[in-house]
Amino acid sequence: MGFKNIRCRRKMPTVVDAECCIACGACVDICPENVYDLKDVAVTTRKEDCTDCGLCIDECPSECIDFE
Ligand code: SF4
Ligand code: SF4
Repeated sequence: MGFKNIRCRRKMPTVVDAECCIACGACVDICPENVYDLKDVAVTTRKEDCTDCGLCIDECPSECIDFE
């Protein structure tokens, strides 16, 4: 019995505060997993792919991304 074949599910995908997003696209550009789409604001359309790396949080000039 072991755990090597168990794939952990993400516990804390990112979420964007649409009120402060200026649609600059920085999160879209930096995310290695292509979690974001840019519409009027950034939208996390592929949350299940988020690896919790935190790059987008550091990159956002408006500081409007956080983990859920
Ligand atoms: S934490 Fe990393 S993987 Fe998740 S949305 Fe941000 S940049 Fe993408
Ligand atoms: S980096 Fe921040 S301000 Fe820029 S599009 Fe993403 S969430 Fe919006």
